[in-house]
Amino acid sequence: MTSGGSGPFCALCGEHATETVEPPRRTLARGLDPSDQSYSVTVILPDIALCAEHALELRQGERHVGWCDDPRCRTYGELGGPSGCGSPYEKLGPSRRT
Ligand SMILES: [Zn+2]
Ligand SMILES: [Zn+2]
Repeated sequence: MTSGGSGPFCALCGEHATETVEPPRRTLARGLDPSDQSYSVTVILPDIALCAEHALELRQGERHVGWCDDPRCRTYGELGGPSGCGSPYEKLGPSRRT
């Protein structure tokens, strides 16, 4: 495996990703009016790109990947860690707000 090619890159370490993991579905607010809490849709997030090491750790439950839904980000990263916009990455998983 040679490095230096074009993406995808591991969501956790930025190394060249060798596999992808299917994320759980999430219900996220996607309203035109941010103050309207009633508007939410189930979005299917893109596959999580990971290097072999982190894909293994994720499967073993040693690492957790979070998602930032800020329009500037919409990327994966380490759960609870700071994302590009400054908000922490949020836990993935089924939403129980309904
Ligand atoms: Zn990695
Ligand atoms: Zn962010």
